[in-house]
Amino acid sequence: MSGETVLVFSEEAEAIPGLLAAARAAVGPGPGRVELAVLADGGGPAGSAVGGADRVYRLLLPENARHDPELVAVALRRAQEAANPRLTLVASTKRGRETAARLAGATDSAVSTGVASFALEPEGVRIRREVLSGNALGEEVLLGPRPIVAVMLGAPVPAVPPTTPPEIIDVPPPEGAGRIALVERTVKPAGGLRIEAAERIVSVGRGLRKKEDLSLIEELARAMGAVVGCTRPIAAEAGWLSDDHWIGLTGHRVKPRLYVAVGISGAVQHLVGMRESTVVVAINKDPNAPIFAQSDFTVTGDLYTVVPALVRALSGA
Ligand SMILES: Cc1cc2nc3c(=O)[nH]c(=O)nc-3n(C[C@H](O)[C@H](O)[C@H](O)COP(=O)(O)OP(=O)(O)OC[C@H]3O[C@@H](n4cnc5c(N)ncnc54)[C@H](O)[C@@H]3O)c2cc1C
Repeated sequence: MSGETVLVFSEEAEAIPGLLAAARAAVGPGPGRVELAVLADGGGPAGSAVGGADRVYRLLLPENARHDPELVAVALRRAQEAANPRLTLVASTKRGRETAARLAGATDSAVSTGVASFALEPEGVRIRREVLSGNALGEEVLLGPRPIVAVMLGAPVPAVPPTTPPEIIDVPPPEGAGRIALVERTVKPAGGLRIEAAERIVSVGRGLRKKEDLSLIEELARAMGAVVGCTRPIAAEAGWLSDDHWIGLTGHRVKPRLYVAVGISGAVQHLVGMRESTVVVAINKDPNAPIFAQSDFTVTGDLYTVVPALVRALSGA
């Protein structure tokens, strides 16, 4: 369809080029517009350095207020009112999904998250998204004004510099922007890990008996030049590793060249996150573990024997 506007928003700078590209593809060539809303503190030209947007709304939220997702959604709503978009597009990340839900609640609009693809059609926005634990794609049409779509982005898209400077509109902070004070900043211990980009992953599951034994897995990862991944129970229930390592339906989607699954049963929700790995090796003491059916190489045995033996072999000891 032509002559329509898609409004893009993300708090994660690296998601913006991919969202802009997806929005541009949806409006097509011609009079369609792509507009971008970004958080800004008023100092810099946030977002305007990225090509692909016809207009940039700078949501002037002080840093303390950005920790309040409700205030972020209120600020975004103001940009949405100004842009009057056919569709508002965010990334289907933890934060993006929350923003989408809050904005949809505030505007009584249709929302869909985990969206694989979307198209602007006369009757509504047609989306495809994973259903049945990622084993099928469902197709839906979002009806009503100003729907919101949280789309799953693939590999990061490089930002292109703008050919013509976009129009910049400052959106003043909403009321209550001072109600949260930033007291202290603590750096996340595993911050910075982008497991999606890893070429080799050694992933661990509930076969591990205690947190201290993670050193075994870390040693194997070091010997292989790999990063450590895990199943949901290891991150979400035991808390032995941060969410950055969590792979699966509700975690990160990875496609390394080599995925070594250690003490992982192979539940469908985990497989969804790693099934695009090129080569899968599984170590499990249960010969009937479902992960074996998804693996190229299998080792039936106790990880407490197999992993140290592998480390010795890899280090030539
Ligand atoms: C809505 C929803 C979303 C979910 N999202 C995710 C997700 O994103 N990611 C995810 O991973 N899970 C997710 N889950 C959970 C998922 O269903 C499984 O419960 C989880 O993946 C199992 O983790 P696991 O393989 O570590 O543990 P288990 O299933 O308990 O498997 C442990 C395995 O270790 C083996 N083992 C035990 N001792 C040893 C030993 N000494 N040596 C070798 N092998 C050993 C056992 O034989 C077993 O196969 C989700 C569940 C739901 C309901």
